Amino acid sequence: MHRRSSNNAQRTFSIVSLGCPKNLVDSERMLGLLNLEGYQMLPRPEGADFVIVNTCGFLRAARAESLETIREMIRLKRQGQLRAVIVAGCLAQRDKEALLEQCPGIDQLVGVFGRDEIVKAADRLFGQLDEQRTLFRPASTRALSDADRLRLTPRHLAYLKIAEGCDRLCTFCSIPSIRGRHVSKPVAQVVAEAEQLAGDGARELIVVAQDTTSYGIDLDGEPGLARLLARLEQVQGIEWIRLMYLYPMHFTEPLVEVLASSRKIVPYLDLPLQHINDRILRRMNRRVTRAQTERLLDLLRQRVAGLVLRTTFITGFPGETEDEFAELVEFVRSRRFERVGVFAYSREPDTPADRLPGHLPEKVKQHRRDRLMEVQQPIAFAWNQAQVGRQLDVILDRDIPGQENALVGRSYADAPEIDGVVYVTGDGLSPGQIVPCEIVAARGYDMIAAAVGPPR
Ligand code: SF4
Repeated sequence: MHRRSSNNAQRTFSIVSLGCPKNLVDSERMLGLLNLEGYQMLPRPEGADFVIVNTCGFLRAARAESLETIREMIRLKRQGQLRAVIVAGCLAQRDKEALLEQCPGIDQLVGVFGRDEIVKAADRLFGQLDEQRTLFRPASTRALSDADRLRLTPRHLAYLKIAEGCDRLCTFCSIPSIRGRHVSKPVAQVVAEAEQLAGDGARELIVVAQDTTSYGIDLDGEPGLARLLARLEQVQGIEWIRLMYLYPMHFTEPLVEVLASSRKIVPYLDLPLQHINDRILRRMNRRVTRAQTERLLDLLRQRVAGLVLRTTFITGFPGETEDEFAELVEFVRSRRFERVGVFAYSREPDTPADRLPGHLPEKVKQHRRDRLMEVQQPIAFAWNQAQVGRQLDVILDRDIPGQENALVGRSYADAPEIDGVVYVTGDGLSPGQIVPCEIVAARGYDMIAAAVGPPR
């Protein structure tokens, strides 16, 4: 264990964490490292010595949000409410020194692979080290540890990052150029982190990576997710394990068997498909066909009882014809996914798709996005409606201010932030508990429930 440096005891910082859960894990790791060195975390940037903006650089909209946040922090600095601004994460990694020119008020720039030296960047602010303003490291060939995190999620919920980077090269995606090649964390390292999170109060573990189903291929030459999950199943204190960012490949028989028979892995799978028309799947370089996708969906529906499938689609990909879009609409109508996210294609510089012919007007892309959501919404609502009268366990996330015995939680069918919630009434309940509930009503994407048994 690091010694707490008394020098830093008075030094305070705050953080704004943007982007996906994998970036959130990076934020929590940086907080943990600063905390171990005695830096004090404040809930808000105002009044802190420095703020870390952990940025997202994946899509144009995300970059705009990151830049706006950086500029806001620089404004606070100019107003004397803050001493310094550290910018970390994907936008820093993607744009590097160009970001310093774009936002001269930035004091330190820390790349994705320099994350574990965040203390060095902080120490520089206090003149303890060199004058440099950047901290970039080459992509790591071994997975960085995410131990000793200071968590930003509710205590009972934790994201577990099992790998970094991606080898897939989908033509619309810039993540491999930012986060590097796929690197899996050794099983023992993942299990140790899971045990630490359980020891710190986590009851729901949400397994994340860029490409979760490729876990272990770089370690043992074959898919290893099934073996890892069997080990995670043994971790004491963990009640629910939720799987996100599964690529529609490498669903080996052992993996399907683990999903079907597990007591802790909730029957909820996040399986981004992006499209279903074969020509578009090829232009996206997804390396799966419609037939393979349909066989996989049939297999999962058949083998995993009560399965809730979440997926995402992109509309308006370069060259997508009305007929190809109509095929996607029909696929969504017939396959009845319980949870769906739809994104209008975002043209990303330096991606192969950007150089493809046949880019569609923004209006058309958005219009197709809305049409697909119009088809999907009643399907999602109908699934929730069908739960009325059923008994489901609900994990309680937070109290509802000003309301006695009323909390907000989620069923197994709801991932945090991206799906609906369950409003629960019952006596003597508190966040972090898992309580058997009867679903008494559905309200669109959300459900209403009453506790019907003792929480655990
Ligand atoms: S699987 Fe495709 S979309 Fe996902 S991170 Fe990798 S390249 Fe990007």
